[in-house]
Amino acid sequence: MNILAVGAHPDDLEILCGGTLAKYVKMGHKVYMAHLCNGNMGGKDIPMEQLAEIRDNEAQKAGALINAEVLGPVCDDLGVLFTQEMRSKVTDIVRQTRPDLIITHNPQDYMTDHIVTQQLVFDSAFSATLPNYKTAYPAHEKITPIYYMDTLLGLKSQPEFYIDITDYFETKKAMLACHESQYKWLKGHHITDPFAMIETMAKFRGLQAGVLYAEGFTIEKVWGRIPPLDLLPA
Ligand SMILES: [Zn+2]
Repeated sequence: MNILAVGAHPDDLEILCGGTLAKYVKMGHKVYMAHLCNGNMGGKDIPMEQLAEIRDNEAQKAGALINAEVLGPVCDDLGVLFTQEMRSKVTDIVRQTRPDLIITHNPQDYMTDHIVTQQLVFDSAFSATLPNYKTAYPAHEKITPIYYMDTLLGLKSQPEFYIDITDYFETKKAMLACHESQYKWLKGHHITDPFAMIETMAKFRGLQAGVLYAEGFTIEKVWGRIPPLDLLPA
């Protein structure tokens, strides 16, 4: 299968589904990790252009750890808005990668880049199938099923299924560790130690699922998108 994961910022996928992506790769699937924003507002002491470059390198390194192909960015931080231009860019990510399954942000997540990423991905998984909607790449054959990741720290999120990532938690941590520019920033700005955050969440979801570490997901259940259960990396 081709698995396309789309996060708003470099590091979102590592935090919210890194273990599951590592597991998909191990099972032999092709994984694409796309981030829409260049991360240029994730700091205050480094000039924005330089920060975007640093964050691009960090995202590439994290993807390389699990042999995932990294795509993006397509806009600045705070640039994820529902426009025709962004629709076309996100549609092309779908058309380019031709996914069997898409993973993206939870519709209830904590900031607008995340929420509109979900809306654009939901939209583009459909738009990508319309041959009369012209973009750089040809239309995709099928409307792709979507799994939504947990929200940050699980607020307003109730998973419908859990992926056991016990064997992949160290890899998830190593992927997050590639985003070196973010440790200090997240600690100072969001009062969050990102490693404590992913460990607490993975243990919390793990306890709920009867394993050591887990990641939780919900399924988009509109017409035409209900995924068969064999898409689960069980
Ligand atoms: Zn983010």
